[in-house]
Amino acid sequence: MSRKKKNIMSFFCVGFIAVIIATIIINSVFVKNEGGIQLAIGKHSSALIGLSMASVIDYGDHYQIACHYPQTGHKKVDEDLRLLAQEEIDSFISLVKAHEQSERFTQDEKWLLGLDFTVVRHSEDIVSFVFEYSLTKDKEESTRLFSGSYDLKTETPIVLGRLFANDYDYLGLLAYLTKNSLSQREDYEQIKEEGLINNTLTAINDNYSCFALAKKHLCLYFPVGTLSTKIMQTIEVEIPFSALGDCFLLKNGQLPPFNEADLLYISANRHPKADPDKPMIALTFDDGPSIYTPKLLDYLEEYDARATFFVLGNRAEIYQETLARAVQAGCQIGNHGYNHIGEFTQMDDTTLEAQVNNTNCAIEAVVNQSRIYIRPPYGSINQEVADKLGVPIILWDIDTKDWKNNDTKIIANQVIKCAHDGAIILMHDCYFNTVEAIPLIIKALKEQEYQFVTVEEMLVTRGIEPAGGKIYYSTRVIK
Ligand code: ZN
Repeated sequence: MSRKKKNIMSFFCVGFIAVIIATIIINSVFVKNEGGIQLAIGKHSSALIGLSMASVIDYGDHYQIACHYPQTGHKKVDEDLRLLAQEEIDSFISLVKAHEQSERFTQDEKWLLGLDFTVVRHSEDIVSFVFEYSLTKDKEESTRLFSGSYDLKTETPIVLGRLFANDYDYLGLLAYLTKNSLSQREDYEQIKEEGLINNTLTAINDNYSCFALAKKHLCLYFPVGTLSTKIMQTIEVEIPFSALGDCFLLKNGQLPPFNEADLLYISANRHPKADPDKPMIALTFDDGPSIYTPKLLDYLEEYDARATFFVLGNRAEIYQETLARAVQAGCQIGNHGYNHIGEFTQMDDTTLEAQVNNTNCAIEAVVNQSRIYIRPPYGSINQEVADKLGVPIILWDIDTKDWKNNDTKIIANQVIKCAHDGAIILMHDCYFNTVEAIPLIIKALKEQEYQFVTVEEMLVTRGIEPAGGKIYYSTRVIK
């Protein structure tokens, strides 16, 4: 290299570094907000065109936060990404505060929250972010993966359901293709031996919620511990678009239009999954939503608990916002018939069909769920009707008789006394006293390490694949 060329090169190098530093200094905005959180937004130039990173760094006496999240320059998308990080931070801080008040707390503890992300890009407009969340409580660390995909042109989120033709069993297809792809791995025998595959690949939304869209394939991510407890890294499965056939609707960078109902699934999927090593319980509420349901959701959110609502179609139509909020809080929505006019086992086919379909329509107007479970009114069911309905039928093994025991303490004690791992509790969110019993129940059972999860999550976590036409009373009793 000639001397002149060398000089030019070093000039460019120094210049380039200077430009980067200047960019960081100029574009970094430090905002000290009320919570004492330092917000630093740096628009680092990088190969990731148009993207930048925002960070929230904060230190408290007993905690440390280092959260990084992407920004795209598209207002709606950026607000969604900011909220996503903020929600994690808020719930972390409330966790720390609750712990500081508890008896187990010691002064030298330090809890850490970390959020980081990687970018996968299909095209200039279609981009996916895969987030890694880590929470360290003193010495115990837990991690979680979740993703967000966006169409920047229309500033809309992309959920899996949007990528596939309506009414197509895409989860079944993904389960099949994922299993196929895993069988090509060198460590497949080892994975198979552990026996987690069937459970983890069951065709429910939760299992496929972490995905990204690359140029020519769909990436599915399975965190440590889900497919194998011995392989200490995320298992990534690549499904070529070509294998997805005609039902796959992302073609030439074009997506089908965005459906508002998809939006709810994104926040619903952000909740941490149940820990199989701890006991869990499914609170279920029939006959709502009602005027008391928002208060119930306040309680569930306050204690980071989830529940399952078996709604009446005619109530769901009126309380759409409440239903949407329940979904956003990670709750599952089931079908309890349209207007509670009688027992499913006594109805002619036309009436039964109308009871079920009209309610499904009311639910689907708010949220896209792959399969809507049914709880028949009065729990009245037989195998013939269950087969006709063709979805999992959920009954219960603990009945609070809250319609009769209209007393907060009696209802709470009934649940606390009978609780066991895998129980399904029957309650009604149309009674004030039932709703007021919830904080008592949650507080008492949380002390015994109980987790409050949805029916579907509980069944799947306990290794039961929810099947159409089967009747479930708890994770112990299945017909
Ligand atoms: Zn009922």
